Amino acid sequence: MTGQNATHAAVLRLAVGEEIVICDGAAIDYHCTVVSSTKSETVAEFISKTPNIAEPNINITLYQALPKTGKMDEIVEKCTPLGVSHIVPIMVARCVTKISDRDAKKIARWQKIAQAVASQSQRGKVPQIHDVVTLEIALQQAKAHDAAFVCYEGEDRRSLKEFLQNMPQNLSSIAFFVGPEGGFADDEIMAFKKGRVATVSLGPRILRTELAGAVVLANLMYELEEAR
Ligand code: SAH
Repeated sequence: MTGQNATHAAVLRLAVGEEIVICDGAAIDYHCTVVSSTKSETVAEFISKTPNIAEPNINITLYQALPKTGKMDEIVEKCTPLGVSHIVPIMVARCVTKISDRDAKKIARWQKIAQAVASQSQRGKVPQIHDVVTLEIALQQAKAHDAAFVCYEGEDRRSLKEFLQNMPQNLSSIAFFVGPEGGFADDEIMAFKKGRVATVSLGPRILRTELAGAVVLANLMYELEEAR
């Protein structure tokens, strides 16, 4: 290991002979023994490899309306240990932040946060942070998932609990949408309904946009996951 991983190893003060697990980011864990460790390089000897057990069985995509500056960092940070697979920022009518040529840099920063949090939470894969897309494109993409819903505070009948409990068994992928601070516009909600994306309530209180995605993921894990 060199670079950032070596710095991480140095911070952990790995001792020679210690057993460590190195994940390749493709859900395979490599069990190794530390042979030598300096500030710039750690050498480890391979013992065995096993499939990583921390990955959810389901592929989850969060379509997150671009929030105000800084909040996306928090969204990536909170959603990564909760099992999200993809985060796709979307640009909708009430987004305050606009697309700019600094976007590529921002996405690279969010990807870096995802990488750091994924390894800390022992995930087998690093969630992928995608380029910003329009709602139209996001709706097209959402069709490729086995289930899709939009968190909508105006929904007064279908709760998240009801939606999750009525999902077909053994889904392999699910997509969900979270709106910006000002919420989705009425015509956008119409577009979701037309696109057969169910509107779902997260309860009687309004959650901030940076909290909504994490709440959905925690409930998905509750519904779908077993003990370790
Ligand atoms: N501006 C709106 C609230 C937007 S909250 C208002 O004041 O009424 C930001 C986003 O979080 C929403 O677009 C929605 O996707 C999600 N959200 C927050 N609270 C929710 C709830 N109780 N039910 C469903 N979605 C919610």
